Amino acid sequence: MRPTGRLHLGHYHGVLKNWLELQHEYECFFFVADWHALTTHYEDPTNIPDSTRDMVIDWLAAGINPGSATLFVQSRVPEHAELHLLLSMITPLGWLERVPSYKDQQEKLKERDLATYGFLGYPLLQSADILIYKAGQVPVGEDQVAHVELTREVARRFNHIFGREPDFEIKAEEAKKKMGKKNAKLFDELRRRYQEQGDQEALEVARALLEGQGNITLSDRERLFGYLEGGGRIILPEPQALLTKASKMPGLDGQKMSKSYDNTISLRDSPAEVEKALRTMPTDPARVRRTDPGDPEKCPVWQFHQVYSDSSVHEWVQQGCRSAGIGCLECKQPIIDAVLAELTPIQERAREYEAQPDLVRSILNEGCEKARDVARETMEEVRHAMSLVM
Ligand code: SF4
Repeated sequence: MRPTGRLHLGHYHGVLKNWLELQHEYECFFFVADWHALTTHYEDPTNIPDSTRDMVIDWLAAGINPGSATLFVQSRVPEHAELHLLLSMITPLGWLERVPSYKDQQEKLKERDLATYGFLGYPLLQSADILIYKAGQVPVGEDQVAHVELTREVARRFNHIFGREPDFEIKAEEAKKKMGKKNAKLFDELRRRYQEQGDQEALEVARALLEGQGNITLSDRERLFGYLEGGGRIILPEPQALLTKASKMPGLDGQKMSKSYDNTISLRDSPAEVEKALRTMPTDPARVRRTDPGDPEKCPVWQFHQVYSDSSVHEWVQQGCRSAGIGCLECKQPIIDAVLAELTPIQERAREYEAQPDLVRSILNEGCEKARDVARETMEEVRHAMSLVM
């Protein structure tokens, strides 16, 4: 996530709630993408440190647990930059120019100078961010799928160019023997089924079999992954996009909730601010007077009900609005209650973290170290594969 400072309900419902689940299901790396912020806003970096701290406090307050997930800051793991540079050597320009967001963003952000090398290369920086952890899955929205696809292409190209080594097949056969006779036989059978019949299930089972082998080294495993698929060593595995549902959380005016539309409720807004924002948010313009019937479909408050209310409240709103049986303030009350109930525990935790800046710093320091250990290991393999080690 780019360091946007304090987060709002749109971030909470669109991203953080998803992270909260993922952190229990997978080994997760969540990072502050401070270099990415520079790809579009290079001229004013002074607020990045404060924005980083505020955002991480909100992650923690929302329930992201540094005991379950690794939280870190991108620029504190400079290996990302090294991998980005090395990948840039093999990435055709056309691949980057074709990424849909390249043209889209240039159209949308006309006031920004996006004719830079950094902006063109930012999807490749993302590829480095992903590949350096050999990530299996990347939680993304629909609009980011093209970036994961680029990452897969870059990984494939890298493995194709640098995964070839002399005597690859002999080395792979030797590695296979280390699995024991029974497993090696099963591996051969699955490999044959995949390569001769294109059996995807056999490929998955064989991959799981390799993952489960504790007694073979990392590079042998890479060889066997490549051997299985009919290529060279797989040094940078191709990640999958883990599609997250688009957030239904609208802004106060019914558009997407975003700071640039000035329609947000921040996770740390005081109860009085939250109440005021919701009480004054627009409703169906046809309901000028209390006695005018309205249409929930034309009202942003209804979209909030879809996030926060159950079916009996939905019925009450539909019926009460269309018959002018309820007033708009009455209609908003269950939402005010629900948002305040959601924010209270988050704000309590945020206050605890705000009061302990050293704790937040040390969580990030520890996360950066942990991330760096993994990144260093990948870079050693990458440098080795690219003959950059004497
Ligand atoms: Fe919107 Fe509720 Fe008012 Fe209907 S009653 S216009 S849904 S706020």
